[in-house]
Amino acid sequence: MHKKLFIPGPIEVKESVLNKMSSPMIGHRSKEASTLQRKISNKLRKLFFTENEILLSTSSGSGLMEGAVRSCTKERAAVFSIGSFGDRWHKMATSNGVNADLYKSELGTITKAETVDEVLSTGKYDLVTITHNETSTGVMNPIEEISQVIKKYPEVIFCVDAVSSAGGVEIQTDKLGIDICITSTQKALGLPPGLGICTMSEKAVEKARTVENRGFYLDLVQLYDTIGKRDYQYPSTPNLSLMFALNYQLDLIMEEGLENRFSRHREMAEYTRNWAKKHFDLFCDEKYASVTLTTVKNTRNISVKELNEELGKRGFVISNGYGNLKEKTFRIAHMADLTLDNMKELLYNIEDILSIS
Ligand SMILES: *Cc1c(COP(=O)(O)O)cnc(C)c1O
Repeated sequence: MHKKLFIPGPIEVKESVLNKMSSPMIGHRSKEASTLQRKISNKLRKLFFTENEILLSTSSGSGLMEGAVRSCTKERAAVFSIGSFGDRWHKMATSNGVNADLYKSELGTITKAETVDEVLSTGKYDLVTITHNETSTGVMNPIEEISQVIKKYPEVIFCVDAVSSAGGVEIQTDKLGIDICITSTQKALGLPPGLGICTMSEKAVEKARTVENRGFYLDLVQLYDTIGKRDYQYPSTPNLSLMFALNYQLDLIMEEGLENRFSRHREMAEYTRNWAKKHFDLFCDEKYASVTLTTVKNTRNISVKELNEELGKRGFVISNGYGNLKEKTFRIAHMADLTLDNMKELLYNIEDILSIS
């Protein structure tokens, strides 16, 4: 039996989207390949509210996170972390020999705009990374406030991990001044895993051109330049199957309408949070609770593992807490194409299994 995924990636994918992946192959140097990428880019620009170039990478989103910090840091990167994915960005930098400092907030809290201001005011940094939506804790950073502060440092390259939020939450990339905004296919966009997606500003490209040793496969300058020179084609063979599905899913997203999609996500989040407050508690301050997943504090000391086993018998799966938060919390995703009715059904089943109401 298929278990419906309420985990924060991979997510449930519509059958019609899955089917697009079995489209017949085309040559990656054909006109059709150029047309496919151009269509995808135009739609993604709308989704990211940007005029900037769109890059796809045949890797998961982590590939572009690594590529961004390596390609665009010349002096030193300031990495702000509110959990595992922020920490990972720091490891990506240092393991590539990129100078980077980690500024970590307590788990369950945000990156404060004042802290970013203080750190950048030292003048030591030419790149900053921010996690928009930290999937390990279910905290969503106040990206507007943070971006206001970063605008005071126009020479700094602003990178955002929007892997678990883009497509479910409005991200005004250009208004916020984000140079590189990164996501993956298998989260709020509602596709199988296998492609990293980012926006890249002219400023970020020009900066990267001054950086030596940008690597090869994930060199963002090479990706950017090849797209320009080869009419929307890539240096290596891209995941064409997933590109067919992405192109189609973006049509479905535009048909739903971005505003409707974002409000559907807000509705599911509100409902799930209220449920969590009634029966357990939220792991973080509600003000910063993620719109795409809810991290529930396990105040009843239930066995999350057993709950998930029971849910599995009924055709659902949720996520345990991440890392050290395992069993202390559990995570319920409400992203991509899930609906309020899906959430009600899941939460009703949890109540039934736990005999709570
Ligand atoms: C899933 C996730 C990642 C990693 O993305 P991959 O596509 O698995 O490489 C990074 N950051 C956040 C916030 C995530 O949720």
